[in-house]
Amino acid sequence: MCTEMNRDLSSMGKPIPLELDVIKGMKFVDPHIHMVSRTTDDYQALFDAGVLLVIEPAFWVGQPRTGLDTFKDYYSSLIGWERFRASQFGIRHFCTIGLNSREANNEPLAEQVMELLPHFIYKEGVLGIGEIGFDDQTPAEEKYYRAQLELAKEANVPVQVHTPHRDKTRGTLRSMEIALEHGLDPQMVIIDHNSEETVKDVLDRGFWAGFTIYPFTKMGNERMVDIVKTYGAENIMVNSAADWGISDPLAVPKTAALMLQKGVDRASVEKVTYSNAIDAFKVANHLDLESLNETLNADPTAKFEGNTILRGGQQPRLNKGSIIIS
Ligand SMILES: [Zn+2]
Repeated sequence: MCTEMNRDLSSMGKPIPLELDVIKGMKFVDPHIHMVSRTTDDYQALFDAGVLLVIEPAFWVGQPRTGLDTFKDYYSSLIGWERFRASQFGIRHFCTIGLNSREANNEPLAEQVMELLPHFIYKEGVLGIGEIGFDDQTPAEEKYYRAQLELAKEANVPVQVHTPHRDKTRGTLRSMEIALEHGLDPQMVIIDHNSEETVKDVLDRGFWAGFTIYPFTKMGNERMVDIVKTYGAENIMVNSAADWGISDPLAVPKTAALMLQKGVDRASVEKVTYSNAIDAFKVANHLDLESLNETLNADPTAKFEGNTILRGGQQPRLNKGSIIIS
């Protein structure tokens, strides 16, 4: 297992052997992960590594949707089947619901989606609005970003803001200015996909700063360690944003291990990989903080609308020791 971990880190500067023993017994939240694109192996690995709660923002599916019904089915799966699937692996699954920035550019469809959103954002398992914001920074993206900020304000729920990969700093600053203009409390807004260039602006304005750990490129684990050493742990949270692209669903526990190995204190690691995410989303009605200390025990015989994750008499392998951390 260790060899595989080393390979992940090898292109991010000097590789050091990742000692996953250091995170044994710790628990993690991944506040941005697209589990509909991931396999049951990923769920098992997440559970084994201590990721006991995930938040899945609604996003695009890699190609444009052709009609409203596919949005409806997608949102329904986030609060339905996907939530059930996670629970079968002992993982609490929550989501945020929103119109993603790319598809905001299809205005006739976007108008219909805006009418659909209020039917979903109050449902059980939904913690807020997301992921919304800018991609190409077009007028249509701005229009629907603003409209969804209003929706979040009305519902008093947190917002997950996707920041653009191109022209990131400008897009990040604009996202925050607009949120403030609409009267949102910065503590209700998670600005995501930060980098060394944006982190200071985000923290100075009192917003939550999310960091996505991309394998091989962009924001790697090593750089994340430096950011926490420089800026501290307040208002910072780490996520994998794992989806259907090349991504690492174990980015959060791996980054925690690297932070501990590189001398970041345990309390700070715990903040950026667990409690800050809980604090950011706890205003949402559906997060039962009391229950988080209890293990979520899956009922292997449970079904969702008559369906199970099991095939041919299989049993889910739960609480049977770890495949990641021995
Ligand atoms: Zn995402």
